Amino acid sequence: MTINRRNFIIASAGSAALFAASAPVCAASKKVSWDRTTDVLIFGAGQAGLCAAIAARESKAEVILFEKGAFCGGHTGMSGSGYYIGGTEIQKKAGIDDSVEINWKDSVDRGVKTYRFIKRDTAVVRRVYDEGVAGMAWLEKHGVKFMPKPVQGIGNRRRVHYVAPGYKKGSPVLIDTLLKEAQKLGAKVETEMQLASLITETGEPTLGVRVVGAKVKAADGKTINVRARKGVILATGGFANSPQLVKRFHPYLAGLPSLGSKLNTGDGIVAATDIGANMIIETNGFGMNMLFVGTHKGQSMGLPMTEAPLIVVSKAGERFEDESKGYLAACHKMTEKGIKLADWIFDEKTYQKFREGCLKPMFETEVVNKYDSIDALAKGEGIDAQKLKKTIERYNSDVAKGKDSVLGRSKLLQTIDKPPFYAFECGPKIYTSYSGIEINREAQVMDTRGKPVAGLYAAGDVTGHLAYQCNLGGGGISGISMATVYGRIAGTNAAKNKSV
Ligand SMILES: Cc1cc2nc3c(=O)[nH]c(=O)nc-3n(C[C@H](O)[C@H](O)[C@H](O)COP(=O)(O)OP(=O)(O)OC[C@H]3O[C@@H](n4cnc5c(N)ncnc54)[C@H](O)[C@@H]3O)c2cc1C
Repeated sequence: MTINRRNFIIASAGSAALFAASAPVCAASKKVSWDRTTDVLIFGAGQAGLCAAIAARESKAEVILFEKGAFCGGHTGMSGSGYYIGGTEIQKKAGIDDSVEINWKDSVDRGVKTYRFIKRDTAVVRRVYDEGVAGMAWLEKHGVKFMPKPVQGIGNRRRVHYVAPGYKKGSPVLIDTLLKEAQKLGAKVETEMQLASLITETGEPTLGVRVVGAKVKAADGKTINVRARKGVILATGGFANSPQLVKRFHPYLAGLPSLGSKLNTGDGIVAATDIGANMIIETNGFGMNMLFVGTHKGQSMGLPMTEAPLIVVSKAGERFEDESKGYLAACHKMTEKGIKLADWIFDEKTYQKFREGCLKPMFETEVVNKYDSIDALAKGEGIDAQKLKKTIERYNSDVAKGKDSVLGRSKLLQTIDKPPFYAFECGPKIYTSYSGIEINREAQVMDTRGKPVAGLYAAGDVTGHLAYQCNLGGGGISGISMATVYGRIAGTNAAKNKSV
């Protein structure tokens, strides 16, 4: 990789032409007849939107939160529920020596190692590291409970804090808790209400004009105009389910299936860029997040690769990526090489050691096949048997020498030789988009001149992955921590605005 490679592109995506299918900008607000009015108008009832609603209510603003779906949750409700941050009380109690600075340095180091040179202002993402621990405590204050033992994700410490009762099971609880809390505090949350477009003070997509409300499409197909005296907050998630936007921003991922919510079609991005908001397109990292998804029950799976000594092979019987780099690197290598399906393979030693740990969810939620021999495994999984045997022989001999001669893996090396053998078949699917609307440290949406759009805020996946955008290593913070910190900031700041 060359050092002068351009690490990111900041696109001026403020024209409706970019999104030919998007809705036209609304008529001038002076002529708008308002159907409803509130102080703070929020779109999207996932982590970011619900946190924004709670924060705005804490600041005593009147809040309406509209959700496009028939129920709340979005990707947050489907997620593993892992809140990734370093320096928490829970880590301390679990004997993990970590801090915000260690977490930050780990991300910077990973960014440098992967040639993601930090050219962009890191201030926006740094706020998530600085306020991520307080964000967790704030969630706890509002009723969210976390598991007592953080687990390993990407990075040099165990920093993934699952919401109780644990991996995936915690995500519906997280949404339910935040939704009830927002409603208890007085936010009006309404489903099947969809952001159609934003309404500016002049009705024109002119830069520098305040956002004063939005057009909202209801389930009955009628569109109403809703006025926001203090501000509009976009928390509508990413665009994993918009083939048009995936192709536009990350063409090499075009056509890949998505495992995410069908409703996350980039509506907030389209509405904001239509009125001049800037879009940051993440190009040097992965563009979009991907997970391994099992082919039998369709469950997403990520963690075991960084914790357990398993190998991942193609149907041609070949390893293709250093497995210890994690699921994301493996999924992207598959996309790059056109490998559609892969098998995770491990032996009885690994099973016994990790069956109650990181492998547990695989056995609970997916189909893992068990075989007496590598020949039987190859036949059962449709893998080239000769090549697979050679791959495993070479791998075992490399482990004995302490050096992976094929892919240079240095972590989690262990032979695969004790039957029975296990195989888990899966393939990559995209979900979170790393590109998104640009915000500043106050969660204000930025326009294409680098100025905040008055009255407009954004948080969560609609803003993309803030760490990747400034070329840090990913995994140093997570979607849920970003959505919490900036959802809270957006809610608080919008509520503080003077009414218009
Ligand atoms: C399978 C899976 C596992 C994951 N695991 C983790 C994990 O363990 N840890 C982690 O940190 N992150 C994880 N993530 C990522 C994480 O879930 C997201 O980054 C985070 O939930 C984003 O929150 P959000 O509020 O921005 O978006 P969402 O939770 O997606 O919420 C957006 C909401 O906006 C609604 N919406 C969309 N368009 C409109 C519109 N026009 N009008 C009104 N509403 C609209 C959607 O229906 C949705 O409810 C995972 C994601 C997936 C899919």
